[in-house]
Amino acid sequence: MAVKITDICINCGACIDECPVEAIVDDEDNPTGEEIYYVYPDKCVECVGYHDTPACAEACPTEGCIVWDVCLEGATCRDDVPAEARENHQPVIE
Ligand code: SF4
Ligand code: SF4
Repeated sequence: MAVKITDICINCGACIDECPVEAIVDDEDNPTGEEIYYVYPDKCVECVGYHDTPACAEACPTEGCIVWDVCLEGATCRDDVPAEARENHQPVIE
């Protein structure tokens, strides 16, 4: 699936231009209606082929805001992330 932005997002905008595949939208375009930034899980490739770690999480100033989500079949996901990190939505950067 993807990485996920959680509700501690402060809408600072630091992540959006870092995404190489334009998977991130701001709070105004969040399809869930939540007033936080959003990652489209069908677009996010977890920066595989672009960066060693997810660029959005590297740029995010809010500790623990961007977390792992489960990897769906057919999606591009990092193979070095433990399944429990995805199931427990652990921060991409601790
Ligand atoms: S992990 Fe990479 S591809 Fe996915 S939303 Fe973040 S910057 Fe974009
Ligand atoms: S960088 Fe982090 S806090 Fe800022 S908009 Fe993106 S997810 Fe939210």
